[in-house]
Amino acid sequence: AKGDGRGVYRYYADEMTRIARERLHIEARLRRALADGQLLLHYQPQVDLRSGRIIGAEALVRWQDPEQGLIPPVRFIPVAEATGLIGEIGAWVLGEACRQARAWLDAGLPALTVAVNVSPRQFHQADLATQVMQVLVETGLPPTHLELELTEGALMEREAEALQVLQRLRGLGVGVAIDDFGTGYSSLASLKRFPIDVLKIDRSFITDIPDDPDDMEIAAAIIAMGHSLGILVLAEGVETAEQLAFLQQRNCDRYQGFLRSRPLPAQAFEQLLREQASL
Ligand code: C2E
Ligand code: CA
Ligand code: CA
Ligand code: CA
Repeated sequence: AKGDGRGVYRYYADEMTRIARERLHIEARLRRALADGQLLLHYQPQVDLRSGRIIGAEALVRWQDPEQGLIPPVRFIPVAEATGLIGEIGAWVLGEACRQARAWLDAGLPALTVAVNVSPRQFHQADLATQVMQVLVETGLPPTHLELELTEGALMEREAEALQVLQRLRGLGVGVAIDDFGTGYSSLASLKRFPIDVLKIDRSFITDIPDDPDDMEIAAAIIAMGHSLGILVLAEGVETAEQLAFLQQRNCDRYQGFLRSRPLPAQAFEQLLREQASL
């Protein structure tokens, strides 16, 4: 039995070494990817529920690796968060998304808000408001065309500091959305205190509609609560016409999901915008 114990210990030790080594390896490759321009953004339409029109685009990062192909963010964003590299990646994403949104404006496409994900560490680490202001000046994107997606966790941690950052962003005219709403622990009181424009209902509450009555209640409650606080509500991960009908009936404002479109490369997204404009 003793031997077994050591064996198990060695197994975990080896496993931890392996994970640590893999993380270092990914970090080094990610650093190079950033320098070599191997990161790119895909864009997923955000749709106005009443008109059915595309009013925004969420920018989602991908890593185009020459050998492995397109690597999804779940495989490298957590590593970037853990190593601090998220600061540089986040800065690149913000700049690129704003440049793209400005290019679409210049091309005469329908006005659109670009939504950019900001990780908790990025939110607390850098001087986000200053960074955002610089990018807006550099790209010439009007502030109202930018929305930042923050998580409940980022806001609840060091609440006073978070409130200051939010107020500065709001002062610039930039929109703020709470991502994955319902999965964290934000209180009604803090929601009321924070200047927030949009609540994004987490996909986990949408997926099982209409089979799960609890999820339907939760989604409806979030919509009602958002509206009572003067906040717009967007449902994430809408995949079926039934889900859309339910959200319509509950007066949800916006949605995003595979039902309308997967995240697309910039060119394909632009094509979608052109089709909409010519309708
Ligand atoms: P998220 O911010 O919640 O983004 C939504 C994710 O849900 C995207 O995955 C999107 O492709 C997926 N999705 C959209 N509609 C549907 C649907 O109808 N069904 C299903 N099953 N999935 C749907 P993606 O692009 O793989 O991104 C995963 C996560 O990685 C994001 O979750 C976000 O947390 C993170 N991420 C992506 N880009 C960035 C970035 O630029 N910066 C940071 N900090 N995080 C990012
Ligand atoms: Ca998001
Ligand atoms: Ca989300
Ligand atoms: Ca998520």
